[in-house]
Amino acid sequence: MQYVPFGKHGFDVSRLGFGCMRLPTRMEGDKQVVDQEAAIALIRRGIDGGITYVDTAYPYHGGESEIVVGKALKNGYREKVTLTTKLPIWAVNEEKDMNRLLDEQLKKLDVPYVDFYLLHAMNNERMDKMIAFHYKDFLAQAVRDGRIKRPGFSFHDGKEAFLRILHDYDNWGMAQIQFNYLDDQEQATVDGLREAGRMGIPLVVMEPLRGGALANPPKNVRELMENNPHKRSAVEWAFAYIADYPEVATILSGMSSRQQLDDNLRVFDTLTVGGMTDADRQFAKELKQAYLSRMPVKCTACQYCQPCPQNVHIPDIFQAYNSAKMFDDPGRFRGRYREMIEKAFDASNCVQCGACEAACPQHLSIIDWLQTIDKEYRETEK
Ligand code: SF4
Ligand code: SF4
Repeated sequence: MQYVPFGKHGFDVSRLGFGCMRLPTRMEGDKQVVDQEAAIALIRRGIDGGITYVDTAYPYHGGESEIVVGKALKNGYREKVTLTTKLPIWAVNEEKDMNRLLDEQLKKLDVPYVDFYLLHAMNNERMDKMIAFHYKDFLAQAVRDGRIKRPGFSFHDGKEAFLRILHDYDNWGMAQIQFNYLDDQEQATVDGLREAGRMGIPLVVMEPLRGGALANPPKNVRELMENNPHKRSAVEWAFAYIADYPEVATILSGMSSRQQLDDNLRVFDTLTVGGMTDADRQFAKELKQAYLSRMPVKCTACQYCQPCPQNVHIPDIFQAYNSAKMFDDPGRFRGRYREMIEKAFDASNCVQCGACEAACPQHLSIIDWLQTIDKEYRETEK
């Protein structure tokens, strides 16, 4: 396991972090619950293997994750790790809810404090809410009374929102972002990552494998990897790309099995900051291009075509379709399109008024694409 300084906080952290949102589960009647015995053993095995960062959150596993993590960290394991959990902003309806939720979470974790307490899944809208609820006062008080060591935030929005949040508060101890070689220009982006580094705010990366998709590349991407002189697996390329950035302290992986954990521990033995050569970095760009070349609809999700008078969610339809083609996963599209049909957002509602095509800066044949996609879906559903 490799260790790096956690920003300027004065301690090191393992580059692999244990994300506790995909713990082993079992069925209890018709309900899926955490297999507590297996989960506790897995978390402890990870810590014994060198992991020193454990991440959980209020909603993971329907609220069970924090309880299981608390149990796993008994018997001396708590002292070995940096522990992070997150404030569920959507459950905050008035200012005092923030204190109540933090107390509830500490109780579930059965600890007197957490090392990092993050505002969960921040975006522009939630930032407005947090400002209205005086989030800085709440965090400062929680630090003063010892319930949290340092505040931070996790993030899902665009670069402007990331920079806004980053610059709004002097005391962020860390930020958690989605980052991988496909998403280097999405969400916080490389620019946001560099800015956090410049400000001395260490980053924790989530979704390093894009929800597992980068671990199972389609044929054209696989062939590129097989022909590269540097023999790395798909997972190794994804992790090595992120570990190369000195701004990134820890990379979270939501591990469900011993096999995954042991594979990750083996990979993280070899990962170093600056561990990619220039040729490797160029190759990561080629991998990204190989994925993007599989996107049939060149929609940039700019939203200029929205709202459609018939409420057709054009960018969402294109995004779901592209994503399924990119990862060679048609089931992924069918599930999402079915939900759109239920909500009457799907392409069959289009009356071909042409307003969207007139607004599209990419000059896409939106109507044709909508018809193609809808037809493809209905044929596969027959
Ligand atoms: S052409 Fe169809 S999708 Fe485009 S704006 Fe008109 S109704 Fe909506
Ligand atoms: S205007 Fe064109 S590029 Fe922008 S979201 Fe709509 S379809 Fe996509």
